[in-house]
Amino acid sequence: MMGRTHALTGWCAGLAVAPLAGVSSLAQALVFAATTAGYALLPDLDHPNARASRLLGPLTGMLSRMLRATSSAVYSVTKGPRDEDGAGTHRHLSHTVLFAVLVGLAVGFGTEAGGPWVVAGVVIVGLLLAENALGDWLLPLTGGAAIWWAWEVSPHALTELAAMGGLLGLAVALGCVTHCLGDALTESGCPFLFPLPIAGETWYELRPPALLRFRTGRTFENKVLFPAFSVLAVLLIPGVWTMFADLLSGLTPPQTPTATQ
Ligand SMILES: [Zn+2]
Repeated sequence: MMGRTHALTGWCAGLAVAPLAGVSSLAQALVFAATTAGYALLPDLDHPNARASRLLGPLTGMLSRMLRATSSAVYSVTKGPRDEDGAGTHRHLSHTVLFAVLVGLAVGFGTEAGGPWVVAGVVIVGLLLAENALGDWLLPLTGGAAIWWAWEVSPHALTELAAMGGLLGLAVALGCVTHCLGDALTESGCPFLFPLPIAGETWYELRPPALLRFRTGRTFENKVLFPAFSVLAVLLIPGVWTMFADLLSGLTPPQTPTATQ
């Protein structure tokens, strides 16, 4: 799956899950979903040419090398009798639920303990990742939204930001899981449930029946999946669906009462 589709599906997943996670305000829901969108690109840090690996030059490049080395080491120690004889780098360790949970817990505890500036750091990295995948138009939009939000909640901006600590762990984990689900639909599949042994493989690639799989970056992803999720991405913003429904009911002509005889 391409980076922009990962970011967009992450945004939709974030908006869908935010109310279940106890996010109540519009501003918090948008921060939550933007974080999910950005970190939906994180698992591909295991590929040297992925957006996440190139985001901050040598810094993310080094993180990518460390992740690939760790993934390869874990793969060589844990691979089952029927797992492939590959390097175990791309689409391995970072493409598992285990990775999503561990990174989510680290971010959750880190933001709880670190306070508002750590929260801001996690959100900014998420926004940069999302912007890198979806386009530069996102930066003035999110920058404007951040200024509007800081103005609205002033002088409690830092307190409001700190209140997002912990929740961001869930947003990051959700982003990683959404990425894996997306990759699982492609022809390569995704070893989502590692280390659960399935059919002699510890790294069993989960994927749907052949008919339902699609190839990354081809017509189905670009012409069907991306436009459909673009519509969903707007409709899921809190209040938009209600506004849309109200608008539609306003356009419907009022029912005239039928005459009784
Ligand atoms: Zn991937």
